[in-house]
Amino acid sequence: MNAIPNRRIIRAPRGATLNAKSWQTEGPLRMLMNNLDSEVAERPEDLVVYGGRGRAARNWESYDRIVASLKSLELDETLLVQSGKPVGIIRTHADAPRVLIANSNLVGKWATAEVFDELERKGLMMYGQMTAGSWSYIGSQGIIGGTFETFVEAGRQHFGGELKGRWLLTAGLGGMGGAQPLAGVMAGCSVLAVEARAERIERRIESGYLDRRAGTLDEAMALIRDARRDGAPVSIGLIGNAAEVYEAILETGDLPDLVTDQTAAHDPLHGYLPAGYTIPEWERLRETNPEMITRAAKETMARQVRAMLAFKRRGVAVFDYGNNIRQMARDVGVEEAFDFPGFIAAYIRPQFCRGRTQFRWVALSGDPEDIVRSSRRLREVVKDPSFGRWIDMAEDRIRFQGLPSRSYWMGLQDRVAAGQALNEMVANGEVAAPIVVGRDHISSGSVASPNRESEGMLDGSDAVSDWPLLNALVSCASGATWVSIHHGGGTGIGYSQHAGLALVCDGTPDSARRIGRVLANDSAVAVFRHADAGYDEALATVEREGLMMPPKLE
Ligand code: NAD
Repeated sequence: MNAIPNRRIIRAPRGATLNAKSWQTEGPLRMLMNNLDSEVAERPEDLVVYGGRGRAARNWESYDRIVASLKSLELDETLLVQSGKPVGIIRTHADAPRVLIANSNLVGKWATAEVFDELERKGLMMYGQMTAGSWSYIGSQGIIGGTFETFVEAGRQHFGGELKGRWLLTAGLGGMGGAQPLAGVMAGCSVLAVEARAERIERRIESGYLDRRAGTLDEAMALIRDARRDGAPVSIGLIGNAAEVYEAILETGDLPDLVTDQTAAHDPLHGYLPAGYTIPEWERLRETNPEMITRAAKETMARQVRAMLAFKRRGVAVFDYGNNIRQMARDVGVEEAFDFPGFIAAYIRPQFCRGRTQFRWVALSGDPEDIVRSSRRLREVVKDPSFGRWIDMAEDRIRFQGLPSRSYWMGLQDRVAAGQALNEMVANGEVAAPIVVGRDHISSGSVASPNRESEGMLDGSDAVSDWPLLNALVSCASGATWVSIHHGGGTGIGYSQHAGLALVCDGTPDSARRIGRVLANDSAVAVFRHADAGYDEALATVEREGLMMPPKLE
C-alpha cells in the first residue's frame, strides 16, 4: 500500500561530522533527508516531496532501510533502489556510483496511469516525479531560475523584452508552481496565481515567494490594476478553482498578457481538483471512486484549456507549463488543445542547443555562509555575464529552504569550472563541509517527453527515449555519485522518461576527476541530442565546445 502517514520530523544532519562511512555516502543520505525536510517537502508525513505524489521513498520501512544502507555502505559498494525501495547492495569500485535508482518504469504497453495506480496500491511501485525519487529536490528554489528564464524569454518574444506593467495569469502554488510568483516579479511582471488550497497560499507568503493574498477576484484585479499603473510588479494568490477563475476573468474582459498553469494536471487522480468538489470530498472520492473523480478532473481541465484557448484567440500569449494539461483536455474531447505551445518548444529549446543545463549546488554543512562564499568564488570562474546579476537577485530575494543551495543554468564549460571550483573550496577548507552538485531533469538530453522537453523536435524524434537512457549510462560511466532513471515525471505516467545525477564534491583529486567527466559529458549528451536532430545551433555548439561526434563518411 501507499506510504503510511507518519509524524516523524526529518531533517538532514548539519556540520562536518560523518554519519555514514564517507562523504560519498553521507551526500546522498543528507540529500534524501533534505528532500523530506518540512521546509522543503510539500507533504513529508507521507513521503510526498512535490509534483502531485512525487515521493522520496516507497514507504517508511523502505526509507529506514535506505538510511541504514547508506550509513553502512563501503566505498566499493553500490546500493540499488527500485521505485523507492532498497533491493540490493553490489560490489563495484570507487569510481562507480554509490547509489543507482530506477523509479516508476513500466514496459511500454503497460505504461498507463491505471496500471501504475494498481501497482502502487499493491505496494510494488512509487511515483518518483523528477527530483523527488532521485533525492535532489531543494524546494521551489530549485526551479525558480528556470521559471525566471522562461518568463524573461516570453517577455523578449512578445513584449520587446519589457515586462514592466504586464501581468501573468497562472494557477497552482505547489512545490514547483510556487516559484512562479517570485520568478514573475523578478522578471518584471505582476502575477495572479489561482490556488485551490489556502494553506499553499500561506506557505508561499511565509517563504517569501508570494507577496499577498486576495479575498475575491475583484480585489485581485484591483491590485493588478494598481500595480500596472504604478509599474511596480506584485504577486497575488487567489483561492479558487483554476478553471472557474480563468472563465470568470475572460468574462471581465480585463485580459492578462501571459497565461499558463502549473496545477499538478499530469496526475488527474491526485493532482487536480475537479470543479464542484470541496477538498475533503475530493480526497474521499479519490479512494472510493477513482474512475469518476479522474474523469471529473479531466472535464474541469478541459474547461480550463478551453478558457486558455479563448485567451489565445483574443491575442494573449498562452503556453503550457509542463504539466500535460493539454493532453488531459484532449483526452476528453478538446481537439484543438495543442493549439497553444509548450514552454520548452516556445521559449527554452535554444538554450538546450547552446548546451545550457542546470547546475545546482547544495552545502552539506547546512551553513548558509558556505553558499555565500561559494557564490563569491563562482562569480570569478563562471564566464556567463548574467550569472552575477542572477546571484545578486537570488541573494536579495530567494530564501533558503532546507540545506542552503543555489541553482543556475550554465553552459558546458561553466558547469565544469563551477564544479571544480567548489571541489577546490572543499579541499582548501574554505567551506565547512563537502558540496553536492547536480541538476533537475529539464534538459532534453536527459528527458524524453513528447508534450514537453522533446515536443516538436526538428526531426520528429519526440518520443524516442534512448537519449535519457544513454544519459544515465553516461553518468554511470563517468562516475556520478548517484544516478537515476525515471518514467512519468513532469507530464505523468506514459508521457516521459528521464534521468538524474548528483555528485559529491568532497575535495579529493578523485572527486575532481569525476566532476570534470560527469558534468562535461552530461552537457555533451544534451548537445548531441539536438545536433543529431539537426539543430544548427547545437551543431555550432559541438564545434565551439570541441565535442566529438563520429566522423561523417564521404
Ligand atoms: P504540487 O502537487 O506540489 O502542487 C500542485 C498545486 O496545484 C497544489 O497546490 C494544488 O492545490 C493545486 N491545484 C490542483 N488543482 C487545482 C485547481 N483545479 N485549481 C487551482 N489549484 C489547483 O505540484 P508542483 O510540484 O507545483 O508541480 C506542478 C506541475 O508542474 C506538475 O504537473 C509537475 O509535474 C509540473 N512540473 C513542472 C516543471 C516546470 O519546470 N515547469 C518542472 C517539474 C514539474
